[in-house]
Amino acid sequence: MPSNPLSLDDTQPNHSSVALIRTSLFKFVCLLVGLFMLTGGLLAYIAHTLDAREIKEGQFHTANALKSLESSMDSYIRDNASWGDAYEHLHLQVDTDWAYVKQNLGASLYSDFFINGVFVIDPQGRTVYSVINGKLAQINAEKWLQQPALPLVEQARARAEAEIPVATYTQVAGTPAYVTAMAITTGDDPTIKNDGRSPSVMVLATLLNNSRLKALGQDYGVNDLRLASTSQAVGSNVMALGEDGNAGKIQWNPEVPSQGILIIGIPLIGCAALVVCLMAWVILRRTTVAAKALDNSYESLKHSEAALNTSEKRFRDVVEASSDWVWEINRDMRFTFLSERFESVTGLPVASWIGRSMDSLLYRQAGSMSDYLNNPDRDPHPSIQCHYRDTQGQERITRLSARAMVDGGFRGTATDVTEEEEARRRIEFLSLHDALTGLANRTRLLAFLGEKLKSKRSMEQPLLVLSVDLDRFKPVNDLLGHAAGDLVLNEISSRLINCIRHGDLVSRVGGDEFVLVLEGINNEEAVEEVCRRLIMAIEQPIKMAEQGVFVGASVGIAMAPNDADNVTEILRYSDIALYEAKAAGRNTWRFYASDMNDKIIERRRMESDLRYAINHDELRLHFQPRYRISDGQMVGAEALVRWQHPTRGLIAPDTFIPIAEDTGLIVHLGNWVLENACINAARWPDNLFVSVNLSPSEFKRGNLAERVKNSLISSGIDPARLELEITENATLDDAVGTLEVMNELKNLGVRITMDDFGTGYSSLNNLRTFPFDGLKIDRGFLNRLVDSEEDKSIIQAMISLGRALSLTVTAEGIETTEQLSWLETVDCHEGQGYFLSRPLDAKVFNAMLE
Ligand code: C2E
Ligand code: CA
Ligand code: CA
Repeated sequence: MPSNPLSLDDTQPNHSSVALIRTSLFKFVCLLVGLFMLTGGLLAYIAHTLDAREIKEGQFHTANALKSLESSMDSYIRDNASWGDAYEHLHLQVDTDWAYVKQNLGASLYSDFFINGVFVIDPQGRTVYSVINGKLAQINAEKWLQQPALPLVEQARARAEAEIPVATYTQVAGTPAYVTAMAITTGDDPTIKNDGRSPSVMVLATLLNNSRLKALGQDYGVNDLRLASTSQAVGSNVMALGEDGNAGKIQWNPEVPSQGILIIGIPLIGCAALVVCLMAWVILRRTTVAAKALDNSYESLKHSEAALNTSEKRFRDVVEASSDWVWEINRDMRFTFLSERFESVTGLPVASWIGRSMDSLLYRQAGSMSDYLNNPDRDPHPSIQCHYRDTQGQERITRLSARAMVDGGFRGTATDVTEEEEARRRIEFLSLHDALTGLANRTRLLAFLGEKLKSKRSMEQPLLVLSVDLDRFKPVNDLLGHAAGDLVLNEISSRLINCIRHGDLVSRVGGDEFVLVLEGINNEEAVEEVCRRLIMAIEQPIKMAEQGVFVGASVGIAMAPNDADNVTEILRYSDIALYEAKAAGRNTWRFYASDMNDKIIERRRMESDLRYAINHDELRLHFQPRYRISDGQMVGAEALVRWQHPTRGLIAPDTFIPIAEDTGLIVHLGNWVLENACINAARWPDNLFVSVNLSPSEFKRGNLAERVKNSLISSGIDPARLELEITENATLDDAVGTLEVMNELKNLGVRITMDDFGTGYSSLNNLRTFPFDGLKIDRGFLNRLVDSEEDKSIIQAMISLGRALSLTVTAEGIETTEQLSWLETVDCHEGQGYFLSRPLDAKVFNAMLE
């Protein structure tokens, strides 16, 4: 087997894709988390650095702001103190009008430059000029400043020469203040004369309250510069004023860029992380599903691979173990593969068939195999029965299954069904045919007829149904045995088949009944010709071991559509016609006529009438005398029954005896005849016997010996005066039983004669086997006596035989004087016939005797 292309790599990792994807994704998420943490850290670091820088900047700007305050205060004081006018109007004399009213050192210092306190301290240390918050005031500088101003004033005087101000931070009423002092000098003004005194000192103070600090901070970009809430406040945003911070502390709100960064950055990163996590989750889900599917397909692939391997193995085992062979053909319908079984099943070598056309091996009646397979309308999964010849040249039947292959060609299996097919055909044949003769049976007949009657029949194309019944067959079967009977039936069957044409049907529907279905015969003469042929064929003697066997046949004819067009009716009608043919005296045929049906109905009525007749004294006895030929003396008389029908008149026994036999009325009828015959005989002279006919069926039914005995007793006649006539048919059915009854009868002392001698086959044998006292030569022989030398010799032979067996020989049906005289010449014992006497009414006969 070629290696499987679907085979999976064995080195494939064993763990599933789901796990693989999960770990990969986990790693990825870890990486992302790390990245986010790093970013966060970095952000925090940046924020922190920024914060630090902001603090430093705050300090720097605050210091700058203070410096600018200091320098502006420095320049204010320099401008105002080192000025000749100020020296003149504030030192030499204190001119308030010049200073305050004329605005040289007045309100504008407060309103424009936020200088809260303006003081001039004279050489004696007295405050000679003061403006507080832009308003002229009479307040001591020390008192406003709440501290001794002397040290500052002294320092300023010391620097008078150098014209350098001094300055310090201090607290005024709890509020930090920047105080600067400078000696008032003439400046460079040459017009003003120095008075030589120690100079007056100008003091300017600005309060660093919250509003001043705020404005100051704003100018330098310091956020919310203000007084520190407590003197204890420390921190990078707190700055002490003055030496050791004794002037108080200021503080500001440094910018915190980290806040902005962190407030925006952290949620942003958080959000990003969330989104990434979400995405990761979604991806995980999706990929898990996909991976699961992948795993499943991988698993199923692994399974299917395993299954494939198993099924391959199974297939191999099956192919090797089964009686089928496997085949494969290409597009050109040539064999490309044949399994080993091919050889053992067909006996043909595989090697020599590979490459050969399928049609050269397999064939079917309906066309070539390749035509069939290439027919697009065929069954997609066909099972085709076809034939081939094995090595012995024997035709074998094989059933092919075929499947088209994707890349063209076909493959399939082939099962040898020769035996199966034969068995099937046999069973089918047996179910539709008679096992003995091989003719169609009733089932087949019904189906065949049904099929034929389906198509509309016309007068020109009638369907002919012939019911054929063998005459004198039953005796053959009973006397010569069933094997002989079977042989006769087989012989008759093949003769019947020879009489029909192809397409017609012969069926066996009963022991010796046949039905023929014929077509293409459209006139009565042709039909009669067929019947004649049939009867002739049947009548030909059949050679058995020692003797020839003769059977005859009666034929009933019905035609579709004339008589009927359905199966049941047409069969019934041909049967009625057959019955008529039989009644008409054997070896003949009758067409069905509608009145035949009436006759059947009539017969039914007769049955019930007969039942009534027996019980209501409608039967009559006629007696036909029998004479001794040698001297013409009457020896006895035969009792012959008639039916005095109320409407139909006197009916002959041939009409109603068969009905009585068929219906079982024969026992009653027979009893009536026996009793009345004996009663009549009792009135006759003792030398006359009475002869009574018995039907064969009377031997089988009822207790015959008992009945005879009763009749003898009730009439009181000598048993030797009673003769019983039986036809040989009585002896046939049950020879042992018949012999037993006959012996019983003989023991009673009655005589037994064989009636209608010469019409059966077994006459001679019967005469030896059974205790007969006499025989009656059938009147048929006498009829032909005149022109048939053969019949003469037969009668002579019968008479000789009778003599040899010590039997009384009677000739019946003597109608002429010639017959009588000839019988006399051949020494026939007794005679009976119209010529001698017709059967006479009992009364007439009795009266004649008297
Ligand atoms: P069978 O026993 O052969 O009776 C003789 C028949 O031949 C009688 O017909 C009789 O009338 C007729 N026959 C007599 N002489 C002549 C003749 O010269 N020429 C012709 N052509 N016929 C003659 P039948 O009475 O109509 O009886 C017919 C058959 O009916 C009898 O044939 C017999 O088999 C049967 N049969 C008559 N009576 C009885 C009966 O009581 N019981 C039974 N089981 N069968 C009966
Ligand atoms: Ca008779
Ligand atoms: Ca007779």
